[in-house]
Amino acid sequence: MAASTTSITAIYPGSFDPITSGHLDLIARGSRLVDRLIVAILRNESKRALFSVEERAEMLEQVLKPYPNVEVGSFAGLTVAYAVERGANLILRGIRAISDYEYELQMALMNRRLQPGIETVFLMAGETYSFVSSRLVKEVASLGGNISGLVPPLVEQRLRGRIAQRS
Ligand code: ADP
Repeated sequence: MAASTTSITAIYPGSFDPITSGHLDLIARGSRLVDRLIVAILRNESKRALFSVEERAEMLEQVLKPYPNVEVGSFAGLTVAYAVERGANLILRGIRAISDYEYELQMALMNRRLQPGIETVFLMAGETYSFVSSRLVKEVASLGGNISGLVPPLVEQRLRGRIAQRS
């Protein structure tokens, strides 16, 4: 049988407010499994964000420079609609703990119903980062805790700057 030549384009949607070492680990591993990976920032007006979509995109661009098959985008509305628009056939998501599973399962099943041709693929979080979330990193940083290693160095700098501005 001839090998399949279908190329795989994945989107990895999320808030990335800001990108953490856990996201980065997932992107590094995910990028090796697909031909093209689009990290897609959800433009969600109802969620109060620390960084604007443009700031988040700029940080992602910097941090993801070493990955030639990874690009950064942003979208509003349905993830599957954006996936179709970008020609993606796979949605990449991460699972950290059982608590992520229920929400992720619901989203994956809904997305499959909306767009049966697109598969959601989950990678387990790296064990070093399974407790890391953007929310917790922001909270710890705002309380003066040490977040080094939990986010890329550039993001650590930007977080400190933003928190200093706010206080
Ligand atoms: P959302 O607002 O959609 O939760 P996030 O940017 O927080 O956006 O997460 C995007 C995806 O990345 C989700 O699938 C989430 O489970 C996964 N993720 C978040 N943090 C980590 C981590 N530390 N390790 C692995 N996956 C993660």
